[in-house]
Amino acid sequence: MHGEVVSTERLTPQLIRVVLGGPGLDGIGLPEGADAYVNAFFVPEGAPYDVPFEDDVVRDLPREQRPYPRRYTVRRWDAEQRQLTLDFVVHGDVGRAGRWAQHAQPGDRLQFRGPAGGWTPDPDADSYLLVGDESALPAVGACLEAVPAGRPVVAVLEVEDAAGELDLASPGDLTVHWVHRAGAAGPLEDLLPVAVAALNPLPGVVSAFAHGEAAATRAVRRHLLEQGLVARDRLSCSPYWRRGHDDEEWRSVKAAWTREVEADVPLS
Ligand SMILES: Cc1cc2nc3c(=O)[nH]c(=O)nc-3n(C[C@H](O)[C@H](O)[C@H](O)COP(=O)(O)OP(=O)(O)OC[C@H]3O[C@@H](n4cnc5c(N)ncnc54)[C@H](O)[C@@H]3O)c2cc1C
Repeated sequence: MHGEVVSTERLTPQLIRVVLGGPGLDGIGLPEGADAYVNAFFVPEGAPYDVPFEDDVVRDLPREQRPYPRRYTVRRWDAEQRQLTLDFVVHGDVGRAGRWAQHAQPGDRLQFRGPAGGWTPDPDADSYLLVGDESALPAVGACLEAVPAGRPVVAVLEVEDAAGELDLASPGDLTVHWVHRAGAAGPLEDLLPVAVAALNPLPGVVSAFAHGEAAATRAVRRHLLEQGLVARDRLSCSPYWRRGHDDEEWRSVKAAWTREVEADVPLS
């Protein structure tokens, strides 16, 4: 499956929206979850192939020529226009994916597998809590749209500064707490857990996610479970990326990390 860039838009200094279209999206099947993601492939400069490519053409190439896989949340699928919207964090002039988005031009192509996965706010919960950094903003945006009308939903979101804040909308009764990295004292991975610890408990049965940087999501998860604020089976915790690791390094240790995280709060 591949899409052709139709347009790009800088949503904030850290976030670029890329809309993909074209016949390469024919047959796309979307899972029912609200925060489905694609596994996109970023072709290194000078590689001897173009999108679309076959797996067996790239499989045996040297590592530096093979495509680099990265996961991106489906912010929106417009079935009428047949357009797929992805929002990319740009984090300096580094990152295979971040840099691709920064330089993307109409007509550029992006190959991907999926979409797959996808968490959805429990329709039978009484309230909702969504926690994350910029990389989770597409998932937050999609999940906020899936919250049942009128129910309380709180989002705690870490961005660089006020310019990184987005307008968010939900049929739910939405409260957003923005947390800024700029000027923060103390370790960055403490920002979200501290902001979450300062919240008033949400009413009734809570459905929640913490997605984004690994250490921060881990600390948020620990707090929510230790305090009994969210039941284990109503909490999605997804460590999307790890500060100081690129995605290859992160994926090589992610399974061990996930096992450690599961042991953080023993089952009672
Ligand atoms: C299921 C899932 C859904 C995801 N959805 C999205 C999405 O919709 N939008 C999105 O932007 N990301 C999303 N991510 C995260 C994204 O896949 C990773 O951040 C990825 O590492 C970015 O790749 P890159 O090539 O730009 O940087 P890499 O080459 O992986 O990393 C280069 C450097 O940048 C740092 N870095 C990576 N990501 C960030 C970041 N967000 N902020 C600051 N520094 C960073 C790394 O630690 C490393 O030092 C998702 C991840 C998963 C698992």
